[in-house]
Amino acid sequence: MKAVAVFPGTREVTIIEREAPRISQPDQVELRMLDIGICGTDKEICSFDYGTPPAGDDFLVIGHEALAEIVKVGSAVTRLRPGDLVVPSVRRPCPHPGCLACRTGHQDYCYTGDFTERGIKEAHGYMAEYIVDYERNMTLVPPGLREIAVLAEPLTIAEKALTQIFWTMQQRPPWLDPDTPSQQRGEGLSALVLGIGPVGLLGAMTLASAGFTTYVYSRELPPSPRIDLVDAIGATYVSSQATTFADLAEKMDNIDLIYEAVGHSHFALQALQVLGTNGIYVLTGVPGPQAFIEADPARLMRDLVLKNQVLLGTVNAGPDAFAAALRDLHLFRQRWPAVVRTLIAGRYPPEQAPELVLGRPAGIKSVITFEQGGQAR
Ligand SMILES: [Zn+2]
Ligand SMILES: [Zn+2]
Repeated sequence: MKAVAVFPGTREVTIIEREAPRISQPDQVELRMLDIGICGTDKEICSFDYGTPPAGDDFLVIGHEALAEIVKVGSAVTRLRPGDLVVPSVRRPCPHPGCLACRTGHQDYCYTGDFTERGIKEAHGYMAEYIVDYERNMTLVPPGLREIAVLAEPLTIAEKALTQIFWTMQQRPPWLDPDTPSQQRGEGLSALVLGIGPVGLLGAMTLASAGFTTYVYSRELPPSPRIDLVDAIGATYVSSQATTFADLAEKMDNIDLIYEAVGHSHFALQALQVLGTNGIYVLTGVPGPQAFIEADPARLMRDLVLKNQVLLGTVNAGPDAFAAALRDLHLFRQRWPAVVRTLIAGRYPPEQAPELVLGRPAGIKSVITFEQGGQAR
């Protein structure tokens, strides 16, 4: 079968032929891969900044954002059957008995760092014709979400963050009613999303649908389909090339939430300076090595203390976040059908994966498909 692999030794990204995997445990399922999204992490892996092949292999099959169809199930599989659509999760638990996070199915909170991640760290990914994995790592997809379910994994970043934000908000500020339904929890609050890539845009959609008055701030200038998308979900786009952080803060009044989706340290730190009273700052970007910058930590500490601020980092994601992502994709489609149709820029055959991964992203999300007749749309 075909797979798309990166060879760190020779610095190549190419199609390889591999033997198709087979079910070897009763609780495993065999998947025929349908769609695999390309993201910034794949680009970093293919620029050899990030990613590790499994022990004993000189290559890593990439791909961690996937939608698949079950083709075979082991004898102990109870929840899934052939024909079902599923989204597989990415991170697998570490082996240490003392890691309470991994031992309770919360490997996104792993203490030891010895977890593996399919398509990223010491485990092959999903950009292949067939995959075998355990039933417990699968989230069932309603058939109606076939076209967009490949977006579930990138959306889990925002879903996990939102759970953490709401959990934090329930404890503080104390005058908020903890029983407020999730679609109203952001009402009366403002959110600033940094970055207009897929993570930022999916984050903006999640925050806007939770009732936040949402702003998106990035370098991009109009005209741009990404900026059109921000407008279409009722959020406000502001370009950093036209408006400074200080001017933006004035326009937004108290900034209750900042959702960082850029991974640029200087930009992120500048934004921290405009976080409002009782504000929560969520970091999702993972910067590579960057130049040292000057900062005023005394001011940052003063603000964090005197304004009751929270600084929160989050990495995706557990099963609850996958279920929430699928629920929200359904909701987004009901609420913004035209926007949802534009989220997937195109579907391409695996042969085009190397150039797509290495090139500049077109549109919002490019998808590799192993279905016959995969084509740009
Ligand atoms: Zn990704
Ligand atoms: Zn662990």
